[in-house]
Amino acid sequence: MKDYESIQGENLEEADMAQLLAVTLNDDAVARVRSQIPTGPSQSHCNECGEEIPKERQLAVKGCTMCIECQKFNERFRR
Ligand SMILES: [Zn+2]
Repeated sequence: MKDYESIQGENLEEADMAQLLAVTLNDDAVARVRSQIPTGPSQSHCNECGEEIPKERQLAVKGCTMCIECQKFNERFRR
């Protein structure tokens, strides 16, 4: 019984460590996701070619940084 208790105690500590690690990893992951997915106001001009991004697209796609053509191009080559 004593052994079982001590094992449980160790497991709890491990769980705490895992949770701490998960929090750190999550923060890291969130930061990574934030840097990858553009948020906030859309850009008025394409990051890739400098063409003006249509107003409808700026409104439809939150935080878009590319015109439709460049977006299509990017998506095709990302896969
Ligand atoms: Zn473009």
